[in-house]
Amino acid sequence: MTKSLFDDAKQRLDLALKYVEMSEDAIEHLKYPKSSLTVSIPVRMDNGSLRIFQGYRVRYDDTRGPTKGGVRYHPNVTLEEVQSLAFWMTFKCAVLNLPFGGAKGGITLNPKELSRMELERLSRGYIDAIADFIGPDIDIPAPDVYTNQMIMGWFMDQYNIIKRQISPAVVTGKPLAMGGSLGRDTATAMGAFYVIEKMLPKFQKIPQDTTVAVQGFGNAGAWIAELLCNVGYKVVAVSDSQGGIYAKKGLDIKSVRLYKESNRGMKAMYCQDTVCDIVDHQVISNEDLLKLDVDVLIPAALENQITEKNAHDIKAKFIFEVANGPVTSAADRILEAKGVYVFPDILVNAGGVTVSYFEWVQNRSGLYWTLEEVNQRLWEKIVMEAEKIWYISQSLGASMRSAAYIHGLNRLGEAINAKGTRDYYVNGGR
Ligand code: NAD
Repeated sequence: MTKSLFDDAKQRLDLALKYVEMSEDAIEHLKYPKSSLTVSIPVRMDNGSLRIFQGYRVRYDDTRGPTKGGVRYHPNVTLEEVQSLAFWMTFKCAVLNLPFGGAKGGITLNPKELSRMELERLSRGYIDAIADFIGPDIDIPAPDVYTNQMIMGWFMDQYNIIKRQISPAVVTGKPLAMGGSLGRDTATAMGAFYVIEKMLPKFQKIPQDTTVAVQGFGNAGAWIAELLCNVGYKVVAVSDSQGGIYAKKGLDIKSVRLYKESNRGMKAMYCQDTVCDIVDHQVISNEDLLKLDVDVLIPAALENQITEKNAHDIKAKFIFEVANGPVTSAADRILEAKGVYVFPDILVNAGGVTVSYFEWVQNRSGLYWTLEEVNQRLWEKIVMEAEKIWYISQSLGASMRSAAYIHGLNRLGEAINAKGTRDYYVNGGR
């Protein structure tokens, strides 16, 4: 029987628990989200009709601090997906030692079908519905798939209207002019870049000899492709929801990104217009991109992309998970047997939440940092944790994924134990 996404996510916990001593109370605690909110959001459409959208916000665990996590706008969003994403956020914040618990949100819709005004009314309606559930010291939303700076700006403004005060720290990933942080737009990719640059030399890989394929050409995927391309990696394929492009001699990623930004889609690029003139390329499906004979594969789109169905066909030697949950636990076992190194999402894509943390700190202190300061602090934090996870992996003979969960679990267990269970008896909550 196929496991649900959430059960599959929790399987990683079971694997890591083989190596970690933890109280039964703490283990039980980590198996359930603290609270899950489902809301119906009424939106007046441009044609005068009323549509109701389903939205969610899940706070998984707040033992280590206020909860933190992005909001996704996508047709496949379900409560279960949001719970899984909130679970991963809990571990990611612990792995990076951020003073946050994990959360996530989402609305089930295809945002490409809404006008800008409809999108704004929906986004403000979402905040109306969850305003009592969030706050700078409670739960702090951020961008995720198909949400961006503009939407975070609407979120913050709506929250301020409701609360009648200016609270920039309630949302991260905001526009700079509204208290956003320099470097937040590239943070997820920059964090992944630092991890890749730290890990590949351990396998004697240098950029000039390393080919890369990136699935997903959005905020995270486009930037990681460009950062790698800039230092000499040969990025031979990229894709988005409509399909992908492949060029054996490597793509000029900056041109592809600028082209996509100006044309708002990659489709036009397949057979006409500027990029086609710049590089020789062929069209490739997302499915085939995953099976390319490259050194490094970077899934940067959605979860469940590499499963037991296609894991046998993966030829890459290294997978860096920029997306959340792109490799299932069944695929993990197949890849491990094939000798493929999988560097897990809860480390690789943690640059986003780390710079979100920096943004929250800057908002609360009122002192703003330069781009160099942001990137330097990100580098220090993510490289230090990557090295610790590498050490755990090497000393226990565990996969990098299990090592990352072990690392996160140790911190979570410590916090849960320190907090104790007194409040279970006092008020039935935690
Ligand atoms: P985005 O909306 O900016 O981009 C998503 C990209 O994926 C788009 O290019 C889209 O066309 C593409 N895509 C959608 N469906 C696809 C499919 N079936 N096959 C191939 N491509 C597809 O989103 P993002 O912020 O870049 O997020 C991408 C992934 O990174 C998600 O898993 C997200 O949870 C994760 N992530 C994002 C951040 C962040 O700060 N934005 C942080 C950590 C993790």
